[in-house]
Amino acid sequence: MIKYLNTLFLIATSFAAGAQQSSRASQIKQIYDEVLLRGQCYQTLDYLCNSIGGRLSGSPQAEQAVNYMFATIKNYGFDTVFLQPVMVPHWVRGAKEKAAIVQGKQRIEVPICALGGSVATPKNGIEAEVIEVKSIAELKTLGTEKLSGKIVFFNRPMDPTFFHTGTAYGGAGDQRGIGPAEAARYGAIGVVVRSLTLAYDDNPHTGMTRYNDSLPKIPACAISTKGAETLSNLIKNNGTGKVRMYFKQQCETLPDVLSYNVVAEIRGSERPDEIIIAGGHLDSWDNGQGAHDDGAGCVQSIEALRLIKVLGLKPKRTLRAVLFMNEENGVKGGNEYARVAALDKSTKHIAAIESDAGGFTPRAFGVEDSMAMVHFKSWEELFKPYGIEQIRKGWGGTDISPLRPQGTVLIGYVPDSQRYFDYHHTEIDTFDKINKRELELGAAAISALMWLMSEEGVH
Ligand SMILES: [Zn+2]
Repeated sequence: MIKYLNTLFLIATSFAAGAQQSSRASQIKQIYDEVLLRGQCYQTLDYLCNSIGGRLSGSPQAEQAVNYMFATIKNYGFDTVFLQPVMVPHWVRGAKEKAAIVQGKQRIEVPICALGGSVATPKNGIEAEVIEVKSIAELKTLGTEKLSGKIVFFNRPMDPTFFHTGTAYGGAGDQRGIGPAEAARYGAIGVVVRSLTLAYDDNPHTGMTRYNDSLPKIPACAISTKGAETLSNLIKNNGTGKVRMYFKQQCETLPDVLSYNVVAEIRGSERPDEIIIAGGHLDSWDNGQGAHDDGAGCVQSIEALRLIKVLGLKPKRTLRAVLFMNEENGVKGGNEYARVAALDKSTKHIAAIESDAGGFTPRAFGVEDSMAMVHFKSWEELFKPYGIEQIRKGWGGTDISPLRPQGTVLIGYVPDSQRYFDYHHTEIDTFDKINKRELELGAAAISALMWLMSEEGVH
């Protein structure tokens, strides 16, 4: 008899689990259908890119973007929409940069752009002999004797053999991040960094460099990959010491500016104190439109929340979309969001998803926490019909990282990575590079994951 009851119980629970799985599948189908039929994220991104444009922290465009997104989200009928104040750095590029490779009487103009945070050159620019290196370690070998008074040219390409281009980017990033500070240690007067991209073209890629306060601040720029090859070949053919470079840039850092994170919320019906967020960063570099980086992540996060709202799904836990300010050159918005979250002891941020890898075809979610990852793995089947093949270990994102000490489960939304670094931090990161369906499918994937976490928790 007991055995019989046990069997009945097992049948009943597996039937219930099966029924739950099929209702989850139909809810997720509703989310995808809604975005593909009546999605709004593409239009919002159009405005953000084509009517506002690049949105570097502290700029008038960043302020317009905050106002526009706030007004747009207000119309969606969320429970709460608010601005969270934060002071941000204000770096400006100034007049368009100029550069030339100088060899005897020959001058070959090459495309460059100042690195974010860089100081200007003197008014008439700088010109000096170029020393090519492939790594920070090489600077030490050359020492002050070889580097003093020179322009250091960092020319280690991103490694094309990594399937995930983000890994290749990470592997080359130290040249831009700390290269200028380290070159200054040995008396260099300027730095040129090969653009962080696998594309071979004339677009220089900007991005933040970080000086060391105890060392001189020297001007630093990125050169296009074609320009880098030209420079490197000339050095190879003519010998070190024979090739000089000239560049001029007029960037400067102005006083900090008051700006905002933009936050929208649907309050949870059963566990409102447990908060799940999805976010991207509203600021972008100034040279393009910040379409893939990271207008896409912003409109997807808002859309993820809006889909749940319009479908009348009532989340058990509180869901938020957060548009962070100042990811590119300071992460002030991400830090402020986490600081304020930690102060509120009545709530806990249980999970955060970041979309900051472009608006390309959805492929996976990367989860930092192993236990949560195992739990989420049980949802993989629900995502497979939509091309998301994998929920795996992975990094969350820059803006949500400050939440890590609070025990928040951090999740990175992972789209296809093959084209992201073609556009990243350049003039060509523009709206025409966005595919409407790919963008929408990403919004639906984020929305579905938020919904599953809201209903079933993170562990
Ligand atoms: Zn970004």
